[in-house]
Amino acid sequence: MASPITAQRGTHDVLPPESTLWQHIEERSRHFFENYRYQEIRTPIFEATELFTRGVGEATDIVSKEMYTFTDRGERSLTLRPEGTAGVVRAYLQGKLGSSRPLPVKLWYGGAMFRYERPQAGRQRQFHQIGVEALGSAEPKLDAEVITLAIDLFHDLGVEGLEVQLNSLGCSECRPLYREKLVEFFESRKSGYCETCLDRMAGNPLRVLDCKVPACREINAGAPSLQDVLCEGCHEHQGAVLGYLDAVGIRYSLNPRLVRGLDYYTRTVFEIVATEKLGSQNTVCAGGRYDGLVEELGGPPTPAVGWAFGMERLAILLADSVAETAVDLYLVTMGAEADRAGFKLAHDLRREGLSVELSYAKRKLDKQFAQAERLKASHIGILGDSELAEGQIRIKNLSNRSEKLVPLSAEGVRSGMQLTEAGGAHLSNPAEESGLQPPPVVHRGDM
Ligand code: ATP
Ligand code: MG
Repeated sequence: MASPITAQRGTHDVLPPESTLWQHIEERSRHFFENYRYQEIRTPIFEATELFTRGVGEATDIVSKEMYTFTDRGERSLTLRPEGTAGVVRAYLQGKLGSSRPLPVKLWYGGAMFRYERPQAGRQRQFHQIGVEALGSAEPKLDAEVITLAIDLFHDLGVEGLEVQLNSLGCSECRPLYREKLVEFFESRKSGYCETCLDRMAGNPLRVLDCKVPACREINAGAPSLQDVLCEGCHEHQGAVLGYLDAVGIRYSLNPRLVRGLDYYTRTVFEIVATEKLGSQNTVCAGGRYDGLVEELGGPPTPAVGWAFGMERLAILLADSVAETAVDLYLVTMGAEADRAGFKLAHDLRREGLSVELSYAKRKLDKQFAQAERLKASHIGILGDSELAEGQIRIKNLSNRSEKLVPLSAEGVRSGMQLTEAGGAHLSNPAEESGLQPPPVVHRGDM
């Protein structure tokens, strides 16, 4: 026998029942995007490599060591997208959304991203993000809106123990000043830093603040804070963002060491961090304002703000919180003629919105019942030759074990299941039946 082929290192399959959770996250995300008026954008998975070297920045980890870059048959250098923002901005410019749609243009996307990283829990080579981008407004209200959107969504999903951390990275006016101060600070303490930090000091000094090595963290604790050098405009902007967050009761902490891995951020940056369950990969959602990126990619000056969350990390936080949907009716038939009549009945009921499962094997009745229980069916329909001869079907309610004979028709079955209205049934609460609780309601104050 040939040896089986396995998935590539750093990739994974989303299997049932986990896929039910993924669908639930996607469904709730769409719901909130609709209420906040963000529209979907879908961009290609591969782009010109230059989009990322220019957009994300040469000195970033992503570009310097994590990209899946290859040359195609036409000798073009292409890269599998490592993040969503650069592609969205490219599409925004190419599709002239800035001139054809009212500003700000508010978009969301979801899909696979690719980074060559060392795989571990919450860190994959192919991973999945859902993100938003709002382009065309510099208003602090928009920074606060995207943060509120993320918190509202996570709250609705029942994620507990989240913390919003915020910082301002300044603008082209005050950041160079900070960079200078920072480099000065590093110069005198070089010997204490790790290799990676020494590398970063030259190309991307702000990233040194991001280092997780204890010795580096200790030195960094004494580094100058961006908060102290923000220009008046940036300071005001930050104050306004915090004011809006206060207005809706979102708690946050200012983290002056928070810098993001991507070059394009200006002013507001933030992370939503899980305080338990995720270990060191604890950032679920990250984002910020990127007022310079659109210009960097060849467009007109266009302030913008956005975030992305990682599906894998969110799924870890929500593991086992969502149950598979239950089967409304499990249909057992006996005999060839009853089998065909049952097939037709299932077809009719499914078209009317019921979730119906058939038995696909010729098993004894008790095995069929066991199967129905496994599927958490709320009802079983039994159709044998004698029922068929009478034009009837036996409906058994599995929660109270009552049984009745009803006419063999979609209408008859529906009345037997005590469904009066047309449309979807999914009678049982799947969470209740499986012993799983629906996601707990988290109050704002807990986040
Ligand atoms: P990290 O510091 O964890 O590497 P990052 O700064 O590279 O994160 P972003 O590029 O801001 O992350 O991506 C936003 C979110 O996408 C992260 O908070 C995380 O939830 C998710 N994410 C990023 N890289 C990966 C990965 N390799 N595997 C799984 N999820 C990821
Ligand atoms: Mg990273």
